Amino acid sequence: MSIVTKKLPTFIDLYSQLIATPSISSNNPLIDQSNEDIIHLLCEWFEHIGFKVETTFVNNINNNIKLNMLASIGNGEGGLLLTGHTDTIPADIEKWTYNPFILTEKNNKLYGLGSVDMKCFFAFILNAVRNLNPLKLKKPLYILATAEEETSMAGAKQFSEYTTIYPDYAIIGEPSCLKPIRAHKGHISKAIHIQGQSAHSSNPFKGINAIEIVYEIIDYLLKLRNDLRENYQNNLFNIPYPTINFGYIHGGHASNCICGYCELHIDIRPTSDITIMEINNLINNVLTYVNPCWSKRISISELHPYIPAYECSSYHEIVKFLERITGTKACSVDYCTEASFIQKICPTLIIGPGSIEQAHQKDEFLDMVFIKPTHNLIKKLIHYFCY
Ligand SMILES: [Zn+2]
Repeated sequence: MSIVTKKLPTFIDLYSQLIATPSISSNNPLIDQSNEDIIHLLCEWFEHIGFKVETTFVNNINNNIKLNMLASIGNGEGGLLLTGHTDTIPADIEKWTYNPFILTEKNNKLYGLGSVDMKCFFAFILNAVRNLNPLKLKKPLYILATAEEETSMAGAKQFSEYTTIYPDYAIIGEPSCLKPIRAHKGHISKAIHIQGQSAHSSNPFKGINAIEIVYEIIDYLLKLRNDLRENYQNNLFNIPYPTINFGYIHGGHASNCICGYCELHIDIRPTSDITIMEINNLINNVLTYVNPCWSKRISISELHPYIPAYECSSYHEIVKFLERITGTKACSVDYCTEASFIQKICPTLIIGPGSIEQAHQKDEFLDMVFIKPTHNLIKKLIHYFCY
C-alpha cells in the first residue's frame, strides 16, 4: 500500500455536499427517502483515499433502498470503529429561515438539515483521515455509516447482528458538545388491546366492559412501576430507575353503551440493569394477574421496534482516555442512540460536535466553535487506538 496523497474536497465542500444530499427517514412512505445517494458519496470519498468499502442492504418497512456502508483501512485485530447515521428526520421547510439542503454560514454557525445530527461527523472523519498513512496503522480503522436511525434503528441493529469485525472500541459521533456519554435508557412502546363486549348500558350482564378491565390492568401496572423504581436504582441516570408512562387511552362510544373495546399505550424506559426480555416478562405477568376469564380478551402489540438500554463501564480504556482528553466525566443522556446495538460488538462511547438541543429543530445548526476541537479529537482517537 502506498501513502495516500490524492485530494479530497475541502471540509466545507464535503459537509455541503452531504447536506445537499437528502436522506430523510420517515415511517410515512410518502416522505421516506432512500439513503443510496449519500452512501455512494461516502463510498466514493473513502475509496478515493485508500479505504476498502462495502455496502449492505437494510430491510425497512417502506421498501426503499437503504444501505449501510463500512469503510476500513489497516490490518490486524481490534482497532477503532467510528460510526454515525446518514439519515435525518423530515424538515418542516416552511418554518426554516434557510434552505435546509444548502449549508449556510451565518453568525459563526453552519445551518442545514443534518448539520449537527449528524452528517457533520462524516465530514470531520474524512477531513481527519485525508492524509492518513496506512503503513503507520498498527490496528484497523473502521467507519460505519448506517441507515434508518431516525425511525427503526434497523441499520445499526442489522450491522451488530451480522458483522464479522471486532474492533476494540466504537465511537458514535452524535452531538454531545464534545462531552463523553456512556449511558442512556432504552425504549419500549406497547399497545394493550382489550376486547370487551358492547351492549346497552341498561343491563350490565349483557356486555363485558373493556374500560373496567383496563382499570384493573392499570392498577397492576402502577404496582409494577413502583417495583421497578424500588428494585432497579442506578444513579448514573438523571431519573435513576426504569419508568412506565401511560401515554394514551381510548375506549367506548357513549355513556349509555357498555364499552366494547379499549386501547392503552404505554412507554417504558429501562435502565441497563434490566433487559428487554425481563421487562416483557414482567408486563406479560401483569396480564396473568388480571381476572383469568378475561385473559383471551387482552393482547399486546409493539408500537415501535424496541431499543435496549446502553451502558459502557467506566473501567474501559476508551472512557478513561476521553475523560482525560476532554477533562469531563462521562455521564448519561435522556435520548436513545445506536449505541444500544453497537455495544454488542465492542465497548461504545458517544461523543460528537454540537448540541443535541439543535437536533430535530428548525434551523438546525453546528456552532463553528466545535470545528477545531472535533478535528483534533478525531485525530487523537485514531492515533491512540490505531497507531
Ligand atoms: Zn442522531
